[in-house]
Amino acid sequence: MEDIRNTVIIGSGCAGLTAAIYCGRANLNPLVLQGHEPGGQLSLTTLVENFPGFPDGIQGPELIDNMRKQAEKFGAEYMTGFVTAANLGDHPFTLAVDGKDIRTRTLIIASGASARWLGLPSEQALIGHGVSSCATCDGFFFSGKEITVIGGGDSAMEEALFLTRFATRVTIIHRREIFRASKIMYDRAKAHPKIHFLPNTIVDEVHDVEKKEVTALTLRNVKTGETYVFPTSAMFLGIGHIPNTKAFAGQLDLDDDGYILTRDYVFTGVPGVFACGDVQDRRYRQAISAAGTGCMAALEVEKFLEEHGR
Ligand code: NAP
Repeated sequence: MEDIRNTVIIGSGCAGLTAAIYCGRANLNPLVLQGHEPGGQLSLTTLVENFPGFPDGIQGPELIDNMRKQAEKFGAEYMTGFVTAANLGDHPFTLAVDGKDIRTRTLIIASGASARWLGLPSEQALIGHGVSSCATCDGFFFSGKEITVIGGGDSAMEEALFLTRFATRVTIIHRREIFRASKIMYDRAKAHPKIHFLPNTIVDEVHDVEKKEVTALTLRNVKTGETYVFPTSAMFLGIGHIPNTKAFAGQLDLDDDGYILTRDYVFTGVPGVFACGDVQDRRYRQAISAAGTGCMAALEVEKFLEEHGR
């Protein structure tokens, strides 16, 4: 007999794993698909201070690992694979995962959002050679060096603060005068003696592609138009994220930036398909709000299966 899953969860970040814990406890044996970024953004972060229940904070990777074990305890299965296509037009739904078809009665999309890049050819050529979107992964390699962080939000502040552990000096480059980071994060960065700010500035080029290492950036002051070469050993991006929804284009309603449009928190336009976490939330994007919608999606899956049969 063909194997049809009760539910498949795309994504193993905070939203997906919370959904897996709830679906597991409901005896649905959820299959969790982990793609290119297992554990999602929490696995790339350091101390999480605002997840309730941890008065001294908890390391992001540890929090994710705990959720993973918790879901496994209740029967969640994990599979590494990338969803390249989906057919949500016929029920059960079909997902193409690295050339293999997986069929499922319900689907929870918790595929999150991936780091945004500037898109400069020189930046792309130097990814992994001094250009990075993950301070916690790559910061160590630039011990004793001067480095830059791009962005004006909380991610940029967090990366810059983390990078002060290694760097002699961290320069935050932001395209505007006003920073959208929360006051507490901005104030922390502002108060740090190693952190300096270059507002109203954009990156025109990253040097040196020939040498296969970052040596400097060509910067432009957007107010004066002045361009100049700014020596640095690394460029870390903290400029936001792009939702991972390519496989669902044309089948689910997406907004202009590709986020899944949901109603009543987690309902997509296709009955039996629910979305949770950063893939459908461009407003809050917090670990706790992702966990919350993961819970809601799982409860709706349970309800759907009760009504339509397992
Ligand atoms: P964000 O708030 O969207 O900020 C992205 C920043 O990058 C903005 O300053 C934006 O500039 C800039 N930017 C975007 N595209 C750019 C481009 N092409 N070139 C140059 N600059 C560009 O994203 P985020 O910082 O990743 O934060 C996302 C959410 O996670 C927020 O809700 C945040 O509070 C939360 N978060 C919280 C923490 C924490 O509390 N510890 C840590 C990380 C993230 P403009 O301002 O000009 O648009």
